[in-house]
Order: sequence, then C-alpha cells, then structure tokens
Amino acid sequence: MGKKNDDEVKNKNKAMENAIESLATRGKAPAFAFALLLILYLAAAIMMSMLAGSDKTIKMLGSEISLYAIAGTFSSIANISIIFLALYFGKPGFVTTLTLLIVQTPVILMAVLKQHNLNSLPGVFGNVLAAIAIVLIYLNNQKVDRYQTRLRDQAVTDRLTGLPNRFACSELVERFIDHGEKFAYVSIDLNHFKSINDTMGRNTGNDVLVEIASRWRNIAEEGLTKTKDILSRESGDEFSLLIRGHRSDAELRETIKCYEQVLSSSLTVDNCDFYITASFGYAEFPTDANNSDSLFTYADAAMQEVKRAGSSEHILRFSPELLKNERTLEIESMIRAALENDTVYFNLQPQFSTEKKLRGFEALARMRDSSGTAVTPSEFIPIAEKVGLIDKLDTSVFRKSAEFFGSVMKETDLDLTLSVNVSVRHLMKNDFLDEVQSVMRDHGIKAENLELEITESIMIDSAEKALQCISDIKKMGIRIAIDDFGTGYSSLSYLYKFPADLLKVDKSFIDKMNTNDSSKEYVGAIIKIGHIMGFDVISEGVEEQEQLDTLKSIGCDYIQGYVWGKPLSPDDARTLILSQSK
Ligand code: C2E
Ligand code: CA
Ligand code: CA
Repeated sequence: MGKKNDDEVKNKNKAMENAIESLATRGKAPAFAFALLLILYLAAAIMMSMLAGSDKTIKMLGSEISLYAIAGTFSSIANISIIFLALYFGKPGFVTTLTLLIVQTPVILMAVLKQHNLNSLPGVFGNVLAAIAIVLIYLNNQKVDRYQTRLRDQAVTDRLTGLPNRFACSELVERFIDHGEKFAYVSIDLNHFKSINDTMGRNTGNDVLVEIASRWRNIAEEGLTKTKDILSRESGDEFSLLIRGHRSDAELRETIKCYEQVLSSSLTVDNCDFYITASFGYAEFPTDANNSDSLFTYADAAMQEVKRAGSSEHILRFSPELLKNERTLEIESMIRAALENDTVYFNLQPQFSTEKKLRGFEALARMRDSSGTAVTPSEFIPIAEKVGLIDKLDTSVFRKSAEFFGSVMKETDLDLTLSVNVSVRHLMKNDFLDEVQSVMRDHGIKAENLELEITESIMIDSAEKALQCISDIKKMGIRIAIDDFGTGYSSLSYLYKFPADLLKVDKSFIDKMNTNDSSKEYVGAIIKIGHIMGFDVISEGVEEQEQLDTLKSIGCDYIQGYVWGKPLSPDDARTLILSQSK
C-alpha cells in the first residue's frame, strides 16, 4: 500500500476514533454535579413543602406576591433538577430520581387530604409528569447506548471473520507502546490467495478466509501457545498477530510456528481441498522499532522478503538489511516507470579547457520518483545495472541528449563534444554500433563530436571482448573516455593497449590534491602518463580555484566541476553554448 493510502487510512481511523470517543462519553458528567443537583432538588423540595400550604403574601418590588406562587417556582426547580439527574447520570440518576418522586408524591397527597388544601394538587401532577419524563429519557438513553455499543463493535470488528480489524489492532499497538510493554507485531499474508479468488470465485475465497481465521482464532483464544496472542484481520488476505509475554526470540518463533503449522492440514471448502501457506514477517517493540509506524513497516518488509525469497522458510524477523532491499525494489520500479512513461531526462555538465574554453558536455541521467523528488544517479545507476535496465536507460539519455545537442549544434559554429556514459554490458551488445549509428544519423551528429565514457573498473572485468567493441567504435571516429580513472587497477601495459582518447581523473584524487602532497604528485603522474600514451586528461569534480590553479600548473588539459559549471538543464546549456559562440 502506498504512503498516501496509509495516511488516508490513518486519518480515517483517527476521525473514527474521535467520533466513537465523543459518542461514548456522551452523558457522562462528573460526580460532584450529581451531588449538586441532588442538593438543589432537596433544598427546592423542602422550600416548596414549607411554602405550599401557606396563604400568606409577601411584598416584593412593590407588589404583593403569595407564598403559594413562590412554592410553584421551587417545585419547578426541583423538577428541573431531577430531569437533569435523569438525563446525565444514566441508571443511578434514573433510580435516584424515580425513588425521590415515588417517596415525595404520597407525602404531598397526604398533605392535600389532611389539610383539605387543594393548593398542592398541581404539585402532584407536576411530579407525575416529571416521572413520565424521566422514564422516557431513560428508555431513550438506553436506545442510544445500545446503538453506541453496536457502532463501536462494528468499527473495531472485521465483518467477515468477526476478528478485530486493523483499526482495533493499531489501537492496541498504540496502547502497548504507551505502556512501554514489550511485544511483537507479526504481519501475515497468505500465499497465492489471489488464485483461489480468481479460479473459485470470491465466495469460496471468503469461506477459505473464514476457515483460516477460525483455526488461528482457536490458537489465540484457547491459549495453545506459551504467549498471549491477539489475532486481527488487516484486509483481504492479510492478517496480523500481536504477541506478548515471550521471553526470547525462540519463543516468539515457536508461537508463530503454531500458526504456520495449523495450515499444514488441508482446508475443505465447497467440497474442495485447499492447501494454503502463509508468509510471516515480524518485528519487536522496542528492540526493532520504537514507534508504531516503523513497527508496521518493518514487519511488512520482513513479510515481503519471505514472499520474495520464496523459500520453504516462511517466518522471518526484521533486520535493517531488509530496508535496503525495500529501497532497491522501490528504485527498480521507479526506473521501470520512468522508462515506460519516458520521463527519464538529462542534465549537461560543461567541460572546459584550463583557459575556460568550452570543450563540450557530459550528459548525466536524471530521474524523479512518484512524489516528484529527484533521486541521484549514484543511487539508481547501480540498481539499473544490477537489474539489467542500464542499456535502456543509457539509450534513453543518449537519444534525448543527442537530439538536443544535434539541434543546438546547428545554431553554433563551435566544435563541441557530447560525452555520454555507457555501461560495458551495453557496449558489448551486438546491436550497440547500429544503435549509435542510428542516433547519430537521426540527429545529425558527427562521430568526431561524440565521446563515450566507459568506467575503468568495469572495463578490466571484461577486458578482451570490451577491447574488441571499443576498437570498432574507434574505427567509426567516435572518441572514448576512460571514466573514474585511478579507481580501478589497470596496469600500464593494459592502458597502453587501450584505444582511448581521454582519461578522466576521478574526483577523489582532486579532493585530496591540495591537502596532501602525494595526491598532487599522483595526479601529476597520471597526467604525464596519459600524455605519454597520447591521451588528453580531464579532471573531474573540481570545486575550488586552488585546485584549478594546481591542475593548470601540472599540465592538466581539461576540467569538469562545480568551480566552472554544475550540471545544467538543456535550456541553460543552450544559453551557455550561444554565449560562447559570439
Ligand atoms: P560520473 O560519470 O563520474 O559523473 C560525474 C558525477 O560527478 C556527476 O554526478 C556530477 O554531477 C558529479 N560532479 C561533477 N562535478 C562535481 C563537483 O565539482 N563536485 C561534486 N560534488 N560533484 C561533481 P551524477 O550526475 O550524480 O552522476 C553520478 C554517476 O552516475 C556518474 O558519475 C556516472 O557514473 C553515473 N551516470 C550518470 N548518468 C549516467 C548515464 O546516463 N548512464 C550511465 N551508465 N551512468 C550514468
Ligand atoms: Ca561519466
Ligand atoms: Ca567519473
């Protein structure tokens, strides 16, 4: 599931959690309010009974007011108090108020009969009405309570299996984390479950899920393991387990094994036997992860690795190396998507003579992930190589940069070089030369304006075949640059045989050059040897004026680096070319 989806689910869960919380806390008022209302009721009732029988009047604000009328006001206060008691204090409120009314009514009635004073009769009716009101309130509250309980149950229960759902599970995880309790989260995914749905239909698929859930629930609820387990269904064929009370990793695995083994006997659904296996990945709080997000991600990564490895071992604990795999997979799919959608693009880094005359540009591949964030070539190039996508990537950069370069070259009389990186694997393909020729033809690029950069270390690995291909390229008039020179181990005799035109001194030597005398001498020696062998020499990664001065003084031919030019967008590269043309 994507990050965005995860966030959406989280937000929904949070909203649901808040809604349930606010519903569940409806009507719960503090105990002191109960006491206060009770006192108010009693005081009003006493005042009322004292004043009810009186036919005296008092003077208030210049008018004569009968005490009987004031008794009515106290009666209303008493009734309102008990209605509030019934409204906000559930069963205790209901019982208290009803008892008070039942006790009070005969007392008033007696007074009416004894004193033959009909003045209190409305009070009796008032009490009867209040009793009816609080019974109605109580019945209604009960209905709301039942509704709330159902809502809460539905929100935390998976409909199909009756297990706690992912919402309940994440609530529990948060609670355990808050309590600082050690526990493991196990992410479980059934293997090849989709094929059951596809071939047998969803209903059968659902029956299978229910059967599996009931086997697992049995283990969790009957305490068939040494640990305390809680099973939930996350979604589809994904389940999860929370395990507490284990003393070691071995005990954790033992518990998970119980869940694995219960699947070893076939499941019979709709007269068909199914043999299901599942992949289990787990991570422990706080040993592997110290928050819920990491815990879920890590357990999932372990579970995905079980699936990917496809071995007979179906249980795996998270380890940090797995994240590297995750990242590799993520980048691999990013490269595939970029190639499919043709969104690979390039930058051009200028190369200059030491007199700052523009020599040309190196085309550098660029790519963005689905969120639009740029990913560096040092991250995606090695993966493209590993998964066999580097040829397509190189071709894409080559075609696009050649198209740009061909069109700009028509606008200028400068004699510039376009350098493109090629992997040796790509270069050794039978149709490589045809591909290069077709790109040159399509975009009107002359062989002498094209340079292919090949990394020294890779060349050494596949020397003979590579040498053959390279001499074929040379015969066409295209130049060859040896990239990252100095990082590999090419012997002088090998270099002597090598039909290159340009040595690119690796940035690591340039970095050390002015802090370390031997590095300066080393760069000086590379330049001399390069010249003896008939190569030009370019230094890469030149960032400072001081490095530039040294390189000039030791006879370097060209430089490429931030000091004179960072990798540019094609538009900026065009501006640079046109500014140099004048
Ligand atoms: P590289 O071929 O050695 O390319 C030079 C790298 O050094 C570029 O990094 C460039 O941006 C960086 N650089 C240049 N000057 C400076 C500087 O002054 N300071 C610093 N810190 N860096 C500087 P980038 O673009 O990240 O490329 C990294 C590597 O990825 C390249 O190293 C190359 O090996 C590979 N690569 C890039 N594009 C392609 C491509 O289209 N095909 C293939 N096969 N490999 C590519
Ligand atoms: Ca390069
Ligand atoms: Ca390089």
